[in-house]
This record gives sequence, structure tokens and C-alpha cells, in this order.
Amino acid sequence: MEEDISQTLRGLLDEKRVLPDEPMSLHTTFCIGGKADVLVKPASVTEIEAVIRCCGEYALPYYVIGNGSNLLVGDKGIRGVVIELGNEFAQIEAAEDDTLWVQAGCLLSKVANTAWKKGLTGLEFASGIPGTIGGAVKMNAGAYGGEMKDIIDSVTVLTPEGEIMILPQDRMEFGYRKSIVSEKNYIILEVRLQLRKGDVKKIASRMRELNEARREKQPLEYPSAGSTFKRPEGHFAGKLIMEAGLAGFRIGDAQVSEKHCGFVINRGQATASEIQAVMQEVIHRVQEQFQVTLEPEVCKIGEFF
Ligand SMILES: Cc1cc2nc3c(=O)[nH]c(=O)nc-3n(C[C@H](O)[C@H](O)[C@H](O)COP(=O)(O)OP(=O)(O)OC[C@H]3O[C@@H](n4cnc5c(N)ncnc54)[C@H](O)[C@@H]3O)c2cc1C
Repeated sequence: MEEDISQTLRGLLDEKRVLPDEPMSLHTTFCIGGKADVLVKPASVTEIEAVIRCCGEYALPYYVIGNGSNLLVGDKGIRGVVIELGNEFAQIEAAEDDTLWVQAGCLLSKVANTAWKKGLTGLEFASGIPGTIGGAVKMNAGAYGGEMKDIIDSVTVLTPEGEIMILPQDRMEFGYRKSIVSEKNYIILEVRLQLRKGDVKKIASRMRELNEARREKQPLEYPSAGSTFKRPEGHFAGKLIMEAGLAGFRIGDAQVSEKHCGFVINRGQATASEIQAVMQEVIHRVQEQFQVTLEPEVCKIGEFF
């Protein structure tokens, strides 16, 4: 069946963009994950629609990913089709009225650089987040006092029924690291960002400052998915984990970073099961010591055992 669908998909997309038995470790910033049955890289809305129709015909599930920077993929991989919206689907257009129109696969760093060069302010907070705009909108990614919801004008989505809808910001139901997208299983196709005119030098300097802060505080030298846990109300996950004595806690190659306890890192050959085991121990120890329940921020997909 898997071979059949790969062949059908090759009839719909350029052959090079249909990858059967693709290791997900190559598509996640954790550098972890077993093989996906098939991974495709559509280059247009029409191709995305065709892939989804094909999954329906074969009765196979599909999962959309961006840059894989918030994903923990199971060691046994993913049954079905992974739709990666990346470089192939990453156009940006600037309008006269301080808005940027961006396709979902565009990296935030690239969008932020475009905004800066056009003298548009508002996106500096996100310039160091290593995801696509699609992933960032779905997660309502945030940092340094900013969140995606603050700069969204509208989001174009594809519904599971195949309808394309333009949702204004107030219909996105943004919350802390969430939006309507997960609940409705939408695919984000395009995003219109509402920015403001700013000073090019100030924008550049703020982006530099924030990226330096990241390099200083975060263990960017190791693969990870960023903050492993959501911030519990009234606390900081990293601080609780440190105070629970878990800095450096390690199972195999999965480790609580000593530099920033909010990050679980891959020291080299960590498996998804090891990362999960570290996360479970962290949740257990923080609960026991502080009666605070940590919730994962990282999205788990695929088969773990
Ligand atoms: C070093 C590091 C630092 C980080 N710092 C931050 C930070 O400061 N703030 C922060 O919020 N996050 C941070 N993250 C986490 C991550 O970068 C963000 O959550 C990012 O927005 C995820 O985007 P992505 O394209 O990588 O999404 P993925 O990881 O590929 O996917 C994440 C989720 O979004 C869904 N998704 C992706 N694209 C689409 C789409 N087009 N339509 C519908 N659903 C989609 C996926 O199905 C999945 O559920 C960090 C990660 C790393 C590795």
C-alpha cells in the first residue's frame, strides 16, 4: 500500500519531492525519529490539495509539519504521509500598507529579515525562533514579550473537508502556545502579518540583542525542540526543574540541559523513548516537590513502541 501511494504521489508531485521511508531524524531539530512511510514536499496549494485527496483515496492519515522544531517523533516512525511545508512553499510578498503576505513554509528568520529590510517592526521577537511561519502560527509561538497573535492580520487555512478559508485574527482562538488550528485540524497555507513602520537600525539592533540573549542562555550547540514544557502559571518550568535538582539529569543521550533546565537536549544518539523517559521523570519530580504539573510544549507524533 505504501509503495502504491508513493507511486501515485510521484504522479502528482515532482519525483524528487516524494520521499518513501524517510528518516524523520532528518526533519526535526531534535535529530530524532523513525521513518515516515512517505514524506512529501508540496510546492503549491494545488499540490497540497492533491496529496490530501490521495491520502483520502488510500484511507491513510497525513500529518503536516514545518521545520520540525517543536516535534518529538517516535522511534518507530510515522504511518501515513508526512506533508512538509518548507522551502518549496515559502514565498513572501510585501504590500504597501505595512503588511507582509507569507506562505506557510517560510522560516521565521527569513520573514523577520524581510520585515527588517523593509523597515517594518513587530517581528523582532520571533527572529530567532527556528520554525516556519505556519508552525509558529499554529503554536502561537512567543518570546521576549511578543507572540504571533500580536502581529496576525489573517490566516488562510485548508480545512479537512478541502475548503479554503481566510480567518481574521479574532477567529484564530489564540491562547498560550495554541490556536484553533489543532482543534479543527486545519492546514495553514498563508499568513498575512500586520506590522508597523519602524526604524531599520533599531529593528536590526533589537534582533541582534535578542539573538545574542538566545546564544548566551540556550543550549543551541545541542539538538533540541526548544522549551520542552509549557510555562506553568505563576512559575518558570526551567527554574522548577533546576530547583528539583534535575540539571544534567540524563537517560542515555537524553539530558536536561545544564545551561537551561527548560530544555531537554539530545547529546548525540538519543532516542525518542529516552527523551520521553527524561520528560516523565521531570514531570514526576516537579510534581512531587512543588505540586506543579508540567505539561509538554513539544508535540509528540508517530509510534513510540
Ligand atoms: C532552539 C529552539 C528555540 C526555540 N525557541 C522558541 C521560542 O522562543 N518560542 C516558541 O514559541 N517556540 C520556540 N521553539 C519551538 C519551535 O521553534 C516553535 O514552536 C515553532 O513555531 C515551530 O515551528 P515549526 O515550523 O518547526 O513547526 P513543527 O515543529 O514542524 O510543527 C509544530 C506543530 O505545528 C504543526 N504545523 C506545522 N506547520 C503547520 C501548518 N502549515 N499548518 C498546520 N499545522 C502546522 C505541526 O503539525 C505540529 O503540530 C524553539 C525551538 C528550538 C529548537
